[in-house]
Amino acid sequence: MNGILPPFLLERMAESPNPQTRRWAMENLAASAAVRSERRVLSTLPQMAAIPSPTGRKHRLIYDALNKPTHALPGKLVRREGEKGPNGPGSNDPAVSEAYDYSGATYDFYWEQFERNSLDDRGMSLISSVHVGKQYANAFWNGEQMAYGDGDGRTFVRFTKALDVVAHELSHGVVTHTANLEYQDEPGALNEHFADVMGILVKQWHRGQTVKQADWLIGNDILVKTPTRRALRSFAAPGTAYTNDPDIGSDPQPAHMRDKYDGEDDYGGVHINSGIPNHAFYLAAMKMGGQAWKKAGRIWYRALVGLTPRSSFKIAAQTTAEKAAALYGPRSSEAIAVKQAWSSVGVPLK
Ligand SMILES: [Zn+2]
Repeated sequence: MNGILPPFLLERMAESPNPQTRRWAMENLAASAAVRSERRVLSTLPQMAAIPSPTGRKHRLIYDALNKPTHALPGKLVRREGEKGPNGPGSNDPAVSEAYDYSGATYDFYWEQFERNSLDDRGMSLISSVHVGKQYANAFWNGEQMAYGDGDGRTFVRFTKALDVVAHELSHGVVTHTANLEYQDEPGALNEHFADVMGILVKQWHRGQTVKQADWLIGNDILVKTPTRRALRSFAAPGTAYTNDPDIGSDPQPAHMRDKYDGEDDYGGVHINSGIPNHAFYLAAMKMGGQAWKKAGRIWYRALVGLTPRSSFKIAAQTTAEKAAALYGPRSSEAIAVKQAWSSVGVPLK
């Protein structure tokens, strides 16, 4: 399943010393297995899953799943596009407001920065369900809509709380409608990578941050922080987001090809090896300076649109270098920054 929490993290939670954490980690794993089969079908037919907006522009629908399991989605409609204020349904519920505001911010980012009209570029409705499952600790895009759990409050809080998480999951929809990268091995790690890049860019854009002001962390706002955990992933230092944590273990992400994971878990390490291109993006953006979505983000978005389902890290590196050269010139500092960034993570280009 394309949840924000990777399977290895849920499996590790099932070994937590805390019996309550163990119990609901098991429930989460069972729920994830049910969603996974549905998603596989939808990713092969992305157009069929898209529900058009009646206006052809930003159109959000928020549902309350009333703590029912994932197969009961979407639930009860509690807020439509344009409804707001103290009289708007669901307005006292922070999960409803966050799902509405953050899916809107994600739409606005794609439209204002890349002139992309929703996930499919044809104005598809952004549908979200909140309060999915009982203390369900995950958020996912099922090919048709977003779903957010409330978390257990001990390890994770409600999953709508983090804009980067919302934008990451919605960006899986953008990936499906563009490169449609296979969710396995290097193409799968690129699928996760582009969702992370767009997730972090929407957050930085929403906060008006420069590359130096940004935290470059994914998921820090959904985690109950302790000295052993601060986020789910780090662009600046992959592999350091959590360390020897009793509930979630240690961050397995590499930052360089020499440490690439070659096993079969996590669809060939899609949430693990994404650390390598993530770090390349970070290095390129830092080198370019300013606000990351303006140059590095534009280059990466154009690359995403140009990739294909089986693109490798090498192809992604070449494509970003080509897009940088096309936008800024082959000898521009931007084009050089992109090449140097990939070379620094062990993907050298000519
Ligand atoms: Zn993901």
